[in-house]
Amino acid sequence: MQSDNKNTLITILLCSVSFVIVSYLVFRTNLPKLPNLFLYNLVIIFSLHELGYYRTLFFLGASVFLSILISITTHLLYVLHIPVFFITFLIADNEIKKHNYYTLIVKTRIEEIAENINVLKDEHNKHKKEAVSLEKKGNRYNSLKDVVSVLNSTLTLEDVVKNIMDNAFNIVGKSDSGLLFLVDTSKQELNLALSVNKTHPDKIKTKKGDILDEWVFKERQALLVEDIKKDFRFSEDRFSKYERSFRSIISCPLMEGHKVIGILRLENFYPYHYTSEDLRLLGIICDIGAVSLQNSVLYKQTLDLAIRDGLTGLYLRRYFLERLKQDVLYCYRNNLSCSFLMIDIDNFKNYNDEYGHVAGDMVLKLISKVLLNFVSGGIACRYGGEEFSIFFPDVSKKDAMRIADNIRKAVKKEGIELRRIKTHITLSVGVATFPEDAKSHEELIIKADENLYKAKRGGKDRIAIL
Ligand code: GH3
Ligand code: MG
Ligand code: MG
Repeated sequence: MQSDNKNTLITILLCSVSFVIVSYLVFRTNLPKLPNLFLYNLVIIFSLHELGYYRTLFFLGASVFLSILISITTHLLYVLHIPVFFITFLIADNEIKKHNYYTLIVKTRIEEIAENINVLKDEHNKHKKEAVSLEKKGNRYNSLKDVVSVLNSTLTLEDVVKNIMDNAFNIVGKSDSGLLFLVDTSKQELNLALSVNKTHPDKIKTKKGDILDEWVFKERQALLVEDIKKDFRFSEDRFSKYERSFRSIISCPLMEGHKVIGILRLENFYPYHYTSEDLRLLGIICDIGAVSLQNSVLYKQTLDLAIRDGLTGLYLRRYFLERLKQDVLYCYRNNLSCSFLMIDIDNFKNYNDEYGHVAGDMVLKLISKVLLNFVSGGIACRYGGEEFSIFFPDVSKKDAMRIADNIRKAVKKEGIELRRIKTHITLSVGVATFPEDAKSHEELIIKADENLYKAKRGGKDRIAIL
């Protein structure tokens, strides 16, 4: 502020001095006084403003000195105009330079702005891409809400397994094939529960999993293989004989606490196809899926508890009678024969008395195991305490008798070792066939029961028919 005031003062001072000098010079000449006075002073003021003090003083002084020298020697008074023209020229030249200088600055500024615009454009595109990928990510995570509700409402194991796979394909996407293994807890091995191959549906033949699944099973960790040919953890030749080709995989365990209960794996034909984000998403699907899997197992166990006997695993009478009614109706409508076996252990009371109730329970378990070997196509049931029954749809009386006798022989042959003593038991079986012996399922049971007692009365360890 202070320096501005100082500059203004100097300018005024110089203007005044130049005014005095120019006035003096003009008045000394014969030139027209007022216009020249005005013109000269105007030029000097401009010069001071445009060129600065020093240059103005220098050029003015030099040109005044020169013109006075010329005017004295030549006696030409108009020479006194020279300084004015000279300074005017300098001002014009200065203006041109200034113009060029400003033009250059503007040009540079425009270039800078253009550069900034490009940078902004790049950033905008980057943000746009980020926004798109964020939207995609958001959609993927939103879909997880649906997974929870769908899987929570699914109860059968087959449906849960299918839903887990469908969701993995829909949400993670990017996959050619998918495999879902369930762990057989008794054998601690993997069993393929579902496989999907989009391009060649019949090309997945593995049933127990490979080295990659074993790794996930053992390590209890998620696995991302970007390129199977370059992953040092797994030797590539192990996969060369595969019926399908894949280069990248993601795989996650389905956990129940610290226990692996299943493995879900997605594969793609191309390397570097999956990201850690995909693996994270698959992990979430597996976590939700594992809960549903446990629910479905619990549901199945609850169902089984309601329809199966806890000791033998055979169907309970109530459920069996329901099935019997439907199946006899089916045979009636389709003009088929069907047979019913009523089985009772001989002298079982004595066995219990002699060897104890626990040994008796072992016998019941053993008999149910034998029955299951013969039951294919039919249904077996623990009818009462030590009574069993089997229903065979589409089996004639002759065949039913043959099967019954085979069961009898098989049980008789089985020995139960108790405290180093080999014990044996026998069975009596009553056989009845629909529609030969009975016209309804109730009558079928009654007739088979009558035949059982016939066998008992006949000396036990035998088959009896009407
Ligand atoms: P029979 O040859 O005439 O059939 O003689 P039985 O002694 O086998 O007589 P019955 O068929 O009436 O069998 C009844 C016995 O079965 C009584 C009981 O000791 C035994 N029993 C019934 N349910 C069970 C069970 O759940 N466990 C055991 N260990 N024994 C049972
Ligand atoms: Mg009995
Ligand atoms: Mg008995």
